[in-house]
Amino acid sequence: MELNLCNIRDVKDLMSIFHLSFRKDLGQNFLIDSLIVSDIADLCSPDPDCTVLEIGPGVGTLTRELAARYRKVVAVEIDQSLIPVLNYTLNDFSNVTVIGEDVMKLDLAEVLGEELKHGPVSVCANLPYYITTPILTKLLRSGFPFGQITVMIQNEVAQRLCAPVGSKNSGAITVFMAYYGVCTQAFTVPPDRFVPSPNVTSSVMQIRLHKERPVHPRNEELFFKTVRIVFEQRRKNILNALTLGFPDMSKETATKIIGSFGWPAELRGERLSLKEFSDLSDCISSYGLC
Ligand code: SAM
Repeated sequence: MELNLCNIRDVKDLMSIFHLSFRKDLGQNFLIDSLIVSDIADLCSPDPDCTVLEIGPGVGTLTRELAARYRKVVAVEIDQSLIPVLNYTLNDFSNVTVIGEDVMKLDLAEVLGEELKHGPVSVCANLPYYITTPILTKLLRSGFPFGQITVMIQNEVAQRLCAPVGSKNSGAITVFMAYYGVCTQAFTVPPDRFVPSPNVTSSVMQIRLHKERPVHPRNEELFFKTVRIVFEQRRKNILNALTLGFPDMSKETATKIIGSFGWPAELRGERLSLKEFSDLSDCISSYGLC
């Protein structure tokens, strides 16, 4: 009998044959809607010669669709007990490499660097929700020239990531995202399209990395810190947010910095644009603060 990884019965049978149960602690919610799986795979890249990094292949549902469309798939799965399952479900594909490792420990340049000789390298994943932000941060900060990043994440997080900087829905992660690329939401996926069902609606979103950064803060770490501080104190005006977040900054210095931009003291920092955040961190740095 042919196995259908989008059939809930087949997936449960497969797990029980391998004596496995779904691990909540690893965010194991497997997709069981063939149309959605196929739509995600289609979105991954316009180039069939691309290499796809898949994070968390699970039992290989999305992996099979990716392998059928693209030159190569490198699938990284932390759960060692799923490796024999993947060897079985991906048996008919010779263009898939499965790596049994935590993606957070993966050296992206070492694993994927060679692949760039053959075409673009893109990321496609139904991400484990418990670790979405660290994974995206790692991908973006790595400097690896990914073609596109297509990921399914919690809808609420996707809305924040894709919100315009300075809007009500924006957060530190929105500014971080806008610094690295352009983020768009493709479609939402209800909980009943997974086994087991998560408690939340999910969203597929795409990130296209900037070829050239829109701003060039003098000190990148300070830029990120400034953004974080402003959003940690988002209910406070910028003067209070800065003096609370930078203990070495006196009220006089904070007033001078804010005044040099002509901003009103009651301004809330969450309203700042990407360029204003960058200029603000440069100004803070010119006072020798970090
Ligand atoms: N791709 C499959 C699908 O769409 O049905 C499974 C997606 S499931 C939401 C997330 C997968 O990521 C699980 O297989 C889980 O074991 C794996 N995972 C969790 N943490 C990981 C990590 N740090 N590194 C690599 N894989 C991880």
